[in-house]
Amino acid sequence: MEDLFSSVNIDADIDVNSLSEDDAKVKIDSLRKEIEHHTYLYYAQDKPEISDGAYDSLMRSLRKLEDAFPQFQDANSPTMRVGGYVGEAFAPVQHQVKMYSLDNAMDLNELDDWMKKVEDEFGEFVPLMCELKIDGSSIALTYENGQLVRAATRGDGTTGEDVTANMRTVRDVPLKLRAENLEGTIELRGEVYMPKQSFETLNEAAVAEGNQKFANPRNAAAGSIRQKDPTITKNRDLATFIYAIADVEPVSSEVQSQESLLNWLKSSGFHVNPDVKLCTNRDEVKQFCKDAIEKRDKLPYEIDGVVVKVNDFNKQNLMGFTSRAPKWAIAFKFPPEEKATLLKDITVQVGRTGVLTPVAELEPVSLAGTIVSRATLHNLDEVRRKDVRIGDTVIVHKAGDIIPEVVGPIMSARPDDAKIWEMPTTCPSCGSEVVKDPDGVAIRCVSAECPKQIHERFVHWVSRKALDIDGMGTEIISGLIESGLVHDVADIYKLTEGEIASLSRGRQNVEGEDIRVGHTIAGKLITAIEDSKKQSFARVLHGLGIRNVGENAAELLVQHYPVFEELEKASTDDLSKIEGIGPIMAENIHSFFKNVQNLDLIHRLQTAGLCFDDRERISEAQSGDQPLAGNTYVLTGTLVESGLSRDEAGAKLKALGAKVSSSVSSKTTAVIAGEAAGSKLTKAQELGIQILTEQDFLNLIK
Ligand code: AMP
Repeated sequence: MEDLFSSVNIDADIDVNSLSEDDAKVKIDSLRKEIEHHTYLYYAQDKPEISDGAYDSLMRSLRKLEDAFPQFQDANSPTMRVGGYVGEAFAPVQHQVKMYSLDNAMDLNELDDWMKKVEDEFGEFVPLMCELKIDGSSIALTYENGQLVRAATRGDGTTGEDVTANMRTVRDVPLKLRAENLEGTIELRGEVYMPKQSFETLNEAAVAEGNQKFANPRNAAAGSIRQKDPTITKNRDLATFIYAIADVEPVSSEVQSQESLLNWLKSSGFHVNPDVKLCTNRDEVKQFCKDAIEKRDKLPYEIDGVVVKVNDFNKQNLMGFTSRAPKWAIAFKFPPEEKATLLKDITVQVGRTGVLTPVAELEPVSLAGTIVSRATLHNLDEVRRKDVRIGDTVIVHKAGDIIPEVVGPIMSARPDDAKIWEMPTTCPSCGSEVVKDPDGVAIRCVSAECPKQIHERFVHWVSRKALDIDGMGTEIISGLIESGLVHDVADIYKLTEGEIASLSRGRQNVEGEDIRVGHTIAGKLITAIEDSKKQSFARVLHGLGIRNVGENAAELLVQHYPVFEELEKASTDDLSKIEGIGPIMAENIHSFFKNVQNLDLIHRLQTAGLCFDDRERISEAQSGDQPLAGNTYVLTGTLVESGLSRDEAGAKLKALGAKVSSSVSSKTTAVIAGEAAGSKLTKAQELGIQILTEQDFLNLIK
């Protein structure tokens, strides 16, 4: 400590000009070391030994020296936590080891079921590590020879974004690992989050500056690491909790379990969440979850559940992964949060098929991290069943923390003048009469000219899962419809750049002139429109918006009828024979293609060059040698001879067209039993399923 304070004084006294190059190098090195040490104490240990002011003073001294002796600049110096500007967009990063999601247990019973499954797998309870599920953004940090070289977001799990410059500004991320002599590449994973307090401050500042608020700390964290200017990220006060390693190999002598990994991470300088417990029975795990719910509000950061992981890495390997998530871990999700708030009004939304949906307009309330001011009431029956009235205080909750829903009114708080709501008898958009579906609860506007329906049909057509026309937002759609340039989606393909460029955005500048779309955006939009012609027939079919036909049903239909002309001819009977297409949907599809207006639209889309034939796409997907297609295998035990993990063995089977399942049933073709095979082998014997040895398996994949 004595030494330290003499260093702190450098700032005031240092005369950089009088220093020789050698002396400067010595001082720079010692300052860097010192600062890293205090960063570690402050962030990883929560035990700072010097004041913030003293820390800043050290930093200023280092900066002064580095400015005077630029030959000693180093990308990993603590002063470099603010990098240069990140390019136009973030470079893609291919994850060498996939970044998985987690399967969820929505309550303690589901958690118990998962724990029983793990127990069955090993024939006994295996120790489970419980960790808090931090509600931030997933991050991967790659170190080469101990130096931070890359930080990447999870992205889609396979490809993330390179956010290195921004993550360097996050002060608890070590730029250098503390472990000595660590050669090669090592990738650590965790969560970057924004503490609740910093989130509040950020939003207060946003309001003061007239900017939009962030909905929750998770969005704020994710948004902050994707800033083009790292100085913004730096000022966002982010922090991390690191809890995983992509490939344990380089440290496998010290780390063989989640518990030893967490210890290793701590000693390497990472910030590790202290709230963990290695549990030795199911009750302990459940108690940890209950305690986490209790302490949730008191923690300085948001959590949305508990992650339970098989502790032993060998056992994790035996269990393997599904395509989405590890089988050796589960996220216990907290029950949805509920809050009481005032129901100020009930308004009506008109959807693309004309359905009128009542929407609760609420006094804004903060729920599970987001501000909720509207919630769907689904339909009139639902409003009656729940007996919600305008002026009521209602309970709002979030199902799975995503969609807000009105649970019902608090009767004791109902004011005398609470108003019973009535569904309008005419469409709020076009004034036409509305009718109730004969076969359901929906009330619809059936006018073909209803502007809201037309607008929503465009919104659906351009949406990501349909034709994915990037940049055609609601403003532009409204402009196109109002200017009479488009009447239906086929008209999109006749638009010129000039027509789009001169569209009004529906807003005015300070001089009171209309703001136009302009040529830059129009040019991009024309390219996106052109690109949409390459989308599959399945997407076009989804985009047409046939009632009840979503993304999956559209795919099912083209698998059976890959060419439009065949689909058009299919009878209701033919269609309902397809597994997954019910009689009502079949009827809707059939009558859609009987309608002359729809056929005319399709004809114009065909002329415009959209795809109505998926034969090539389907045969490409099916090509490749698939001798095991139609067979389902279950792997159990360890494959000793080949040394293949279950994941690797499964991948080989799948490459030959087989399905690999984790449980034995009458549909299983055969069980491949390695050494120490457990309950799955017994079950296969009971069911009389064929059992293959490892040698049989190796012959099979030859
Ligand atoms: P989800 O995004 O809901 O699929 O949940 C999976 C995500 O939870 C992971 O990708 C991590 O980003 C995050 N997570 C937060 N805390 C933990 C933890 N302690 N262990 C594993 N994953 C965690």
